[in-house]
Amino acid sequence: MIKDISEQVLNEWLENVRPYAYDGQVADYIPALGRQNPEDLAVALHYLDGDTVEAGRTEVRFTLQSISKVISLALALMDNGEEYVFDRVGMEPTGDPFHSIYRLEQIPSKPLNPMINAGALAVTNMIHGATPDEKVGRLLSFVHDLTDDHSIGYNEEVASSEFETAFLNRSLLFYMKQHQIVTGSVEETLDAYTKQCAIEVNVCQLARIGALLANEGRDIASGRRIIPKHLARICKTFMVTCGMYDASGSFAIKVGIPAKSGVSGSVLASLNDFGGIAVYGPSLDEKGNSVVGLKLLETLSNRYDLSIF
Ligand code: GLU
Repeated sequence: MIKDISEQVLNEWLENVRPYAYDGQVADYIPALGRQNPEDLAVALHYLDGDTVEAGRTEVRFTLQSISKVISLALALMDNGEEYVFDRVGMEPTGDPFHSIYRLEQIPSKPLNPMINAGALAVTNMIHGATPDEKVGRLLSFVHDLTDDHSIGYNEEVASSEFETAFLNRSLLFYMKQHQIVTGSVEETLDAYTKQCAIEVNVCQLARIGALLANEGRDIASGRRIIPKHLARICKTFMVTCGMYDASGSFAIKVGIPAKSGVSGSVLASLNDFGGIAVYGPSLDEKGNSVVGLKLLETLSNRYDLSIF
């Protein structure tokens, strides 16, 4: 296992990528996200033996946004089984932007994968729970198990800011309801989804989730199984094929580490034989990926030859 990355080295790398902090733009289509500070940069590593290294503003909390799609997928698979989930959501990358409605018009009219918004909304719809709050409560307990941290909640301001403006996501849900991919109330599923996306963590908590996925679904400290091994593998495979939006191909070539990004500017990476890596840098490139996150992961991968390919 590679373990010679000191805090000093990590700090140096973070300073090297700092000039990129203003290269992209902070997401503002969810109004509350527009208030993030592009200079809040942080990175954390969580090794398979439980050791951690961190640098930057690691105390800053951010919302998971699309990274939550990996977590909701794991829970929906545990709730419903693979057959049920993949009857309704596909396994193929799209090459389209994450909120695209275009492919839903193709027959069969099901979302191509669980990492785009259509697929993720369908996945949230499948999570067991009679009400949105019950679903979100179950998701939060799952996140508490994944991080061993019961203080984690969701940011109400970000959740309601997205709920009030999520007209595209509403359209995707209505479309899927027409085609019986989702059931029940569109507003209730959107309520659960926006709260799921607004779950708030810091890089250290996120890196721990990456380490658990790398450890085949077992918590590193206790050895407790939180996600079945074959489901952890499915999650990591989706991170490779569609985790970085429609830049997943170039990311696989340049970095080669299973990773999922979110429009808050965070990236969760998970590498078997290494552990978890989390980066936060709110400025996004045109595809929606953290500019600093990409640069830092590329440096790390090249320096330590971490690509899985
Ligand atoms: N809540 C966001 C949305 O649905 C998540 C998108 C993302 O992080 O890619 O638009």
